[in-house]
Amino acid sequence: MPFSALGLSPELARAAGDLGFSTPTPIQVQAIPAILRGADLTGSAQTGSGKTAAFGLPLLQLLQQGRSQTPRRVRALVLVPTRELAAQVGEVLRSLGQHLPLPLRIAVVFGGVSINPQMMGLRGGADVVVATPGRLLDLLDHNALKLASVELLVLDEADRLLDLGFADELQRLLALLPARRQTLFFSATFPPDVQTLAETLLREPVRVEVPATPDNTPGILQRVIQVDADKRTQLLRHLLKESGWDRVLVFVATRYAAEHVAWKLHQSGVFATPFHGDLSQGKRAEVLAQFKNEQWDVVVTTDLAARGIDIEQLPVVVNYDLPRSAVDYVHRIGRTGRAGESGLAVSFVSNGTEAHFRLIEKRQNLSLPREQLPGFEPTEAEAPVGAGAGGIKGKRPNKKDKLRAAQASLDSGADKSR
Ligand code: AMP
Repeated sequence: MPFSALGLSPELARAAGDLGFSTPTPIQVQAIPAILRGADLTGSAQTGSGKTAAFGLPLLQLLQQGRSQTPRRVRALVLVPTRELAAQVGEVLRSLGQHLPLPLRIAVVFGGVSINPQMMGLRGGADVVVATPGRLLDLLDHNALKLASVELLVLDEADRLLDLGFADELQRLLALLPARRQTLFFSATFPPDVQTLAETLLREPVRVEVPATPDNTPGILQRVIQVDADKRTQLLRHLLKESGWDRVLVFVATRYAAEHVAWKLHQSGVFATPFHGDLSQGKRAEVLAQFKNEQWDVVVTTDLAARGIDIEQLPVVVNYDLPRSAVDYVHRIGRTGRAGESGLAVSFVSNGTEAHFRLIEKRQNLSLPREQLPGFEPTEAEAPVGAGAGGIKGKRPNKKDKLRAAQASLDSGADKSR
């Protein structure tokens, strides 16, 4: 099916073709006509399945209609949880809009960089604003833009934006938006509590869910290797060498661990660098661009890089530390195997984190075989459930206690600032 069959203009279909999109993906087939009809929508499909164009193409088409007003007013707002994702979504929208007869101005704003150029950039107005919530609020406080004309609101990685970390900022923003608007939520994961909250913000939403099938599931091979916690760096070096992995995204639990593991790898001659929220925005952008250009073999990161970031042909993701939640597991491993490619996701599990990994498997309906590699067989004793991490004496440990116990062997203080 061609893009034009979904009701898109020839200019947008052509731009999709320029990006190498010959046919729409399943989420695009289902979401684009519904959005063009003006429906509210929740869109849920695998990581790497083309969600940006699923909202980007119809958004641009809707904005073309009635685009004659001057001065420019913000008619579409796309909220995303990380700065890197803001830049990426802005880039995709600009590419998709390149042939439009009436050019649209797309402003991208996020924190960690000087606010002044962004204020200047908004002076002539913008048709679309792609933003992280905190910086958008700062710009609103500076009267750099108004949201009273927003007709279309998109939450990309919606479950992340609707969770507690962003709750206050999101509430403040929603209060500034017109009640009459079209609202679209997209994510690969919609935990039930978030789904309930989402429903309160949408009007008779169309639900587009693309269930995983052998045809549309990214070909991500998931391996679980049992190893003592203190042997993980050695094992990683071994795998890098023996398996010939040349581009690997390694997830750890903390910014400190990202620095530390990258440093240890670097010491042993691996071309590795850290990527986390304590780096300056300039450095973050540089590392990501260099990784995309294949200048680093290994980037060691926190969950900062777990959401949305699209790195073409990234062959391997490693969970050096396990993610806190099953949702994060899905997003982390989804950095590989994008757009129909295949990929490999390796998780290191020690006796201390085995219980936690079992919970992740249960939530994701997975049952993965455990592997042991010669020379790296675990020797640590299994951590007693509830030990040392919040288990209450005399009380049977509940799921949270077990999670805490499993988590105890991981460092504390995940990377919260995106
Ligand atoms: P996204 O889920 O939006 O991050 O997209 C994941 C990857 O799929 C990106 O590399 C896109 O360029 C690519 N992509 C999106 N739509 C299509 C399509 N219709 N055909 C082929 N690739 C696509």
